[in-house]
Amino acid sequence: MAEAARRWAPPVAVAALLALPAAAPAADPPAPAPLALASATLRQDGLRLRLTIRTRGDWAAQALISRPGRSLCLVTFERGRRGYVCATATGHRARLTITGAGGGTRALPATVSRPDLRTLFATFAFAGAGLRVGAVRWVVTSTWTDTGRCAAGCSFRLPARGSNALALHPPVPTGCRARAPWYWTRGPGNRKVVALTFDDGPSRYTHQVLDVLARNRIHGTFFLIGEQVRGNESLVRRELRDGNAVGNHTFTHANVSGGGLQQLVSTQGAIHRAAGYTPCLFRAPYGAVSGTIVGQARGLGLDTIGWDVDPRDWSRPGTDAIYSRIVSAAGRESIILMHDGGGPRDETVAALPRVIATLRHRGYGFVTVPELLGLAPKYG
Ligand code: ZN
Repeated sequence: MAEAARRWAPPVAVAALLALPAAAPAADPPAPAPLALASATLRQDGLRLRLTIRTRGDWAAQALISRPGRSLCLVTFERGRRGYVCATATGHRARLTITGAGGGTRALPATVSRPDLRTLFATFAFAGAGLRVGAVRWVVTSTWTDTGRCAAGCSFRLPARGSNALALHPPVPTGCRARAPWYWTRGPGNRKVVALTFDDGPSRYTHQVLDVLARNRIHGTFFLIGEQVRGNESLVRRELRDGNAVGNHTFTHANVSGGGLQQLVSTQGAIHRAAGYTPCLFRAPYGAVSGTIVGQARGLGLDTIGWDVDPRDWSRPGTDAIYSRIVSAAGRESIILMHDGGGPRDETVAALPRVIATLRHRGYGFVTVPELLGLAPKYG
């Protein structure tokens, strides 16, 4: 690899090509030049980019063993910086390199495949290619100027004029990673944050809770009853799209302190089918935890989540009581229990803006349970 990197000339040919008048590749050469570009697509998939380049001619991966006059590169322009992700080869295997701002070239971790002799398909983390969320412009370039087979004209740029636009979005996670000690009732530290949690949804009150959270630009955590997911799939997707976390609250709101593996499995399935997301959080209905259910949850990659602030909002004690019970009990890294389903929740919805305002006034921030516990998101 080091040898290949040394032989690889930083993309002088590419840089020269970009400086060419855009009219240069207007006509196809008589015989298809191996790297004449037919099409290129670049798409975001979570944290990764999927690059597909199709050429007009056939070429084996060995053709991309680094040498002057050969290149096949994705060139990106972002905030005034230019980046080069180039296909090269080690033996018969294609791989990617990235050329940094200082001109140094290194391997870019990627999955590279050749579905046929005219196609290169690669996926790689966009952060690894030096790109950040936001607007990116890109072109694909190729050169094959070092053999008699294709004379000096074999330099290509797609599109011939201008560049393509790609908006890199903050990636939506597909899951999260539970960790020891597997059962939590508050955060592990002393930060001035709280986690607002909502059980027993999705229900007809859920969108009101989501609206309050969105208006305040904060995120909460929703523990879903599996059998209520059907028919409410768009609510689950919105919960995640808005940046909230979702967890498993059994399929039928059963007391599973004696064990409830199937309750957990079917709810994981319902949430995954609805939103393509696999939770790493479980909350036991009625707070009925036991070593048995915590162990079963752990086996499915789920942390069991309790709470340290319970306003008993489900008993409908009145908006003022819900508000005062929460703000008098909440402290650093509290997990606050509320409900967005299981009965009339107008009192909870009414108390929520006041709870947020008071805690914010006291200097608290609002995090999801995975953020509170430092549980890493999964992507893809
Ligand atoms: Zn519940």
